[in-house]
Amino acid sequence: MPPHRALIIGVAGQDGSYLAEFLLAKGYAVYGMVRGAPAERYERLEHVRDELELLQGDLLDQSSLESVLKQTSPTEVYNLAAPSFVPTSWTQPALTSEFIAIGVTRLLEAMRNVNPGIRFYQASSSEMFGRAKNAPQNEETPFSPRSPYGAAKVYAHHLTTNYRERYDMFAVSGILYNHESPRRGLEFVTRKVTDGVAQIKLGKKDELRMGSMDALRDWGFAGDYVRAMWLMLQQRVPDDYVIATGKAQSVEDLVATAFEYVGLEWKRYVVIDEKFVRPSEEYVLVGDPTKAMKELGWTRDISFDQLIRMMIDADIKRHGG
Ligand code: GDP
Repeated sequence: MPPHRALIIGVAGQDGSYLAEFLLAKGYAVYGMVRGAPAERYERLEHVRDELELLQGDLLDQSSLESVLKQTSPTEVYNLAAPSFVPTSWTQPALTSEFIAIGVTRLLEAMRNVNPGIRFYQASSSEMFGRAKNAPQNEETPFSPRSPYGAAKVYAHHLTTNYRERYDMFAVSGILYNHESPRRGLEFVTRKVTDGVAQIKLGKKDELRMGSMDALRDWGFAGDYVRAMWLMLQQRVPDDYVIATGKAQSVEDLVATAFEYVGLEWKRYVVIDEKFVRPSEEYVLVGDPTKAMKELGWTRDISFDQLIRMMIDADIKRHGG
């Protein structure tokens, strides 16, 4: 058995697929838990499918978690499974809480029963800061979530800390700000823009319908952020970290950067559509990654401009350009 064995819950998502690649390159045996059948097609995993072992399990089902843990004997478990599009958490609040809040409770209990020596990473989120009074936010900033998604993530975060303190488990949370990639879902604003710009460039579309152009976010590259997850589990002492770029950018910056890359003037194509406008956000979600940079030695490799260009190149290719 290889000495390093990782189980990724939510392996078929954006972060799961980047983390799987990263750990395989480090020589880990990588196991992924999926809700559907392992033989199904998982688009984001196609290029590494032969190197991974997929097992069926569900955060809603405690016995399936214990069974997957027993079958794989992981040294590290990463919990990246969650419905991640924040607005959906308002239409499915109970299901969101089941997966995120009660799901982590089942997972921590399963690890405690099967092997409390497993190192555990919990995907916490900048959404936990919600209407934060100060910017940038760091590990000391009080949580004030403003969505069922954010509230459930706060519960999961606190529970992870409780298991660390009460049972002396190596259980940590990474508070990650928005992180994007060509594998991001099309409903998220970065991917919506890069996909739209790619189609406009190829003459397949002639407008891009957007919501609030002045909303601010701290956007990084998912590939850089999964490295931080791994670093957190290699420390001597378990602790929580904010992972962010430290720079706030507006949706308008995003749109301008994307159109400029393909040589088009954004004002000619962007139409504001009330359907996409969210209630005004008087807060600024931007993270301070100082602690992670100092203690983990983490830095990002990919800048905002490089990220947007990478996403547009991939979308142009996908649309046959
Ligand atoms: P979130 O940070 O998890 O909500 O990530 P999103 O990528 O969905 O949205 C980031 C921000 O972009 C929010 O403040 C939205 O108000 C803003 N935004 C502006 N136009 C759009 C749009 O057309 N779609 C989405 N998803 N967000 C938009």
